[in-house]
Amino acid sequence: MHLYENQKLKIYNSLTGQKEDFKPILEGNVGMYVCGPTVYSNVHLGNCRTFISFDLVYRYLKHLGYKVRYVRNITDVGHMVDDADEGEDKIAKKARLEQIEPMEVVQRYTVDFHQILSMFNNLEPSIEPTATGHIIEQIQIINEIIENGFAYVVNGSVYFDVVKFNESHEYGKLSGRNLEEMIANTRDLDGQSDKRNAQDFALWKKAEPQHIMRWPSPWGDGFPGWHLECTAMSTKYLGKTFDIHGGGMDLKFPHHECEIAQSEASCGHTPVNYWMHANMLTLNGKKMAKSTGNNILPRELFTGDNTVLSKAFSPTVARFFILQAHYRSILDFSDEAISASEKGFYRLMEAMRSLKSLPTAAQTSTFNLAVWKQTCYDAMNDDFNSPILIATIFEAVKFINSVKDGKETISASDLADLTTTLQGFVFDVLGLQDEQESSSGNSVKLDGVMHMLIEMRDQARADKNWALSDQIRDKLLALGIQLKDSKDGTTFTIN
Ligand SMILES: [Zn+2]
Repeated sequence: MHLYENQKLKIYNSLTGQKEDFKPILEGNVGMYVCGPTVYSNVHLGNCRTFISFDLVYRYLKHLGYKVRYVRNITDVGHMVDDADEGEDKIAKKARLEQIEPMEVVQRYTVDFHQILSMFNNLEPSIEPTATGHIIEQIQIINEIIENGFAYVVNGSVYFDVVKFNESHEYGKLSGRNLEEMIANTRDLDGQSDKRNAQDFALWKKAEPQHIMRWPSPWGDGFPGWHLECTAMSTKYLGKTFDIHGGGMDLKFPHHECEIAQSEASCGHTPVNYWMHANMLTLNGKKMAKSTGNNILPRELFTGDNTVLSKAFSPTVARFFILQAHYRSILDFSDEAISASEKGFYRLMEAMRSLKSLPTAAQTSTFNLAVWKQTCYDAMNDDFNSPILIATIFEAVKFINSVKDGKETISASDLADLTTTLQGFVFDVLGLQDEQESSSGNSVKLDGVMHMLIEMRDQARADKNWALSDQIRDKLLALGIQLKDSKDGTTFTIN
């Protein structure tokens, strides 16, 4: 018996604008695709919010017992500086400015992205495909779209014919836009563009001679349009129609709208059953933007090296703060708000630690555990409502503190159940970590490793293997760990 059989999950579907009962295509299995980052700069906090939101979705689906295949791509080509398919590729531009290879740019910021997300304790997706690794699949989809009459070739580029598509399909259904209105509101093409209509978008772009990111294709050397990679990779790993597609709110149009059009125009299938969009993060009530200085990077948040906040905040505190808002609401980041979250977070961790030492002499509990537990599930079943879940968890925190003070009681079996449930929601579903516990856990491990090395060095000295004993001492010193020998044995200090 899996939890999902009696916990009825509802998901807000951006396509219908309604909360719907979640029914996966294949019982017990979920296919989920989330648009990943374009790796040309450090991941910003707003993006982190999106990925933390979908990490919560992933974690809860797994908690319910679903087998989830979570695909999140890396965009390493095709995302243009100007969203109207003109200008330079974002990665190529960065490579040109820094005089390095585009793939060096990709490598640097992919590593940064992974490091930051793991500091936030996000789980890794099941598959993390790259756009450049799927050029063949993208060319194949373009061929299908051309064959079906929804794309045209001009001067070595291929464009999706939105007007033609809209005659038999509905372009704009996800973002609630109407093509006629869009056309009426755009100025005429200035004759510079190869496109028939301003709304058409590139499936393949011809590479100019100076363009360094290029691949051969039936239409000449070029590179794929940005929207196409997600269609190619989601279809390849999740099928023509899959369960959940997520991304930031800003991707709804044109990116996700174009994904729908590409799928319908190539294989005739609507690609996604549930579209989910995470809302944005503002800073002190305003949109975050590098250009205005109203901006903070995750690392600057963790180190305190910024002009926006009064001090440093840990990644777990930031995660907790983010999850205290529902993923569909705008969340405003401010010193005051995250400071309040930090206090709450420490209170929660303290309660989690005191679970181990609660008195359980009582026969009965003065807390209705079954009702409380279902309230936790109800919150998450209601479109992943983490703020309600956290508020419900704090009812338990209050109760735990009262038991500690002798004002309430809990039986031994209820305590075991409460502990398992709380650990499940706090650590597994919300993905929080007790930093105090994990760092003390690490220091226990470090002590063990150091003890082992000191023993090995003692043995080397007993064997008169001075080369090895010196090597151990010097290499530790290079790592900032100093050994000190005395008649009582060897100790160490960390600089
Ligand atoms: Zn995408």
